[in-house]
Amino acid sequence: MTASISRTLQIPQTLLAWYDVHARNLPWRNPPGMPIPGDDNWPYRVWLSEVMLQQTTVAAVKPYFAKFLDTWPSVFDLASAPEEAVMAAWAGLGYYSRARNLVKCARHVAQRGGFPRTEAELRELPGLGPYTAAAIASIAFGERAVVVDANVERVVARLFAIEQALPAARKPIRAQADLITPDMRAGDFAQAMMDLGSQVCTAKAPQCLLCPVGDLCDGRKAGEPERLPVKPAKKAKPERRGTAYWIERVDAKGRGEVWLVTRPQTGMLGAMRALPDDGWSAQTDGAGQPMMDLSGRAADHDGHEKLGAVRHTFTHAHLTLAVERIAQGTQPEGEGEWWPIDQIEEAGLPTLFAKAARLALARR
Ligand code: SF4
Repeated sequence: MTASISRTLQIPQTLLAWYDVHARNLPWRNPPGMPIPGDDNWPYRVWLSEVMLQQTTVAAVKPYFAKFLDTWPSVFDLASAPEEAVMAAWAGLGYYSRARNLVKCARHVAQRGGFPRTEAELRELPGLGPYTAAAIASIAFGERAVVVDANVERVVARLFAIEQALPAARKPIRAQADLITPDMRAGDFAQAMMDLGSQVCTAKAPQCLLCPVGDLCDGRKAGEPERLPVKPAKKAKPERRGTAYWIERVDAKGRGEVWLVTRPQTGMLGAMRALPDDGWSAQTDGAGQPMMDLSGRAADHDGHEKLGAVRHTFTHAHLTLAVERIAQGTQPEGEGEWWPIDQIEEAGLPTLFAKAARLALARR
């Protein structure tokens, strides 16, 4: 189905008029209709917010966005930050590969003297997918780029009653999104579509009576627009099991310390600080014993005390992570560090290991 010419003009006009009045006031946003700020930091703010917002809510992102800007006010500051510091600041926001790519990308941008200005050049940056490149090109630089995230995908599938199931529907959705993207105010249009998707044309309960483009919507006319876009059949997530180990000692000053490791660069929660574990992953259960050499009383299982388990859901698997305390007097071998237990909150543990640490501390 193709949109009639008048509809392809009417939709962006109507939506931009609605956005002028109803745009969400967000800390990374330029007010609607205002000229794009010319300062060097503007693309940095847009990029940072877009990376943080991937699969994450606005409410969750706001404090992280403020903290990052406070700590690293420019892309050059972020580029010179140690990766561990960025990973620790990201802890709790999830999808940690984004943080690793953030550092990589910041270093690349700093090396070339700033952000490139076109969608094609932005696509060349490490870790930047088609959506983010299009969003930065349009919002930060005013280029006409077709910006399609999950919100836009939903709105367009409904506006044009696209009945194909995802992922095959992505092609016609993109083609229709291209038809309604205006030459002027492309950044405002992209954000208007995102706002419409998140505020009005929501996944489960689209508010068609309040919708500014309700009269132009085929999905509404056909009835039950909430069916769209048609989702592919869901695969059940596998259940995985693993074990994390709480190894404690008392230092010379009588302060409790716990052994923390840094996870390998690649794989789940890569490069994050964590409790040592038994090598679980999204594909396999853990081995049931620590992935490191231990000396002292912990070499055999008599030195292990079961403390309970925590549950966590990743994109591709559910995980039940048992937590075991390994007896005092154990000296783990290999890479790791003794971390003061009373400063465990500052270790930047990802949510899974923060839950495991809370369980271990509750059982002390
Ligand atoms: Fe979504 Fe309803 Fe608006 Fe169509 S009319 S875009 S289905 S909220």
